[in-house]
Amino acid sequence: MRAQVLLCPTITAYGRLYCAPRRLHRYNSSSSSSQFLNLNLSRFSGALFFHMEQFQSGTGSSGKRGMVENLKRYGVISSKRVAQVMEALDRGLFVPVGSSAYVDTPVPIGYNATISAPHMHATCLQLLEDKLHPGMRALDVGSGTGYLTSCFALMVGAEGRVVGVDHIPELVDMSIKNIEKSVAASFLKKGSLSLHVGDGRKGWQEFAPYDAIHVGAAASEIPQPLLDQLKPGGRMVIPLGTYFQELKVIDKNEDGSIKVHTETSVRYVPLTSRVEQLGGF
Ligand code: SAH
Repeated sequence: MRAQVLLCPTITAYGRLYCAPRRLHRYNSSSSSSQFLNLNLSRFSGALFFHMEQFQSGTGSSGKRGMVENLKRYGVISSKRVAQVMEALDRGLFVPVGSSAYVDTPVPIGYNATISAPHMHATCLQLLEDKLHPGMRALDVGSGTGYLTSCFALMVGAEGRVVGVDHIPELVDMSIKNIEKSVAASFLKKGSLSLHVGDGRKGWQEFAPYDAIHVGAAASEIPQPLLDQLKPGGRMVIPLGTYFQELKVIDKNEDGSIKVHTETSVRYVPLTSRVEQLGGF
């Protein structure tokens, strides 16, 4: 069956895409990966509002700076540390050659996966910022290109520990090559950042417990091993759902109890088995 993707036809003067439900039209896509866009769909004043600023600010450092400036202008980034990290790490090194590195859109990376849109990376960094101080530990499940994993490594520094897990070996190899070209290379070399092939639904016990856990693919339910590997006082950000998905923020209290809140509506690639992903879900 062909996927149906809702696209928004209206671009405002600010370059932000808005659309009221009446103006939505359906677009038939034959690409299975395009069903899952890794973006933020949120309800705004009763209208469906796609946070997809179509900004393009050239390439190289001016492109990165333009991307971060726009994310700040639209209120996605409010933290100086998040802005600094996203400016320092060149997204251009993590997207396939020839794709738009600094446009706020997800980009296919092969194997039915995408690198998330910059606003999603920024949103997750903002939500986890307080758990990404120097010396802290972070787990990135579904690490894909390694972009967000590297942002975590820059934030927790050499005394911290960051682990990325993806179940596609080719993506893990690619992420390591991407990181080796980036400002996060020294963390990889010194061992405070590592990327592993594995089923992220099991987490990564070796370096648990984690102050921050990010899941970059949508789970149908919260995997128990991830809850177990979250430190008391720690926070997990995870998209939950199948077709309709919500970004959940899970805080583990010091007594081990759990508090969950919904941040926004999103659209992510599923957290699934390798066979199902390679078969197109
Ligand atoms: N956050 C990454 C990739 C997002 S795409 C980025 O922005 O670059 C989602 C990723 O989750 C894909 O790379 C996919 O291979 C991975 N994934 C899906 N199910 C998984 C599982 N069970 N275990 C590990 N990785 C998984």
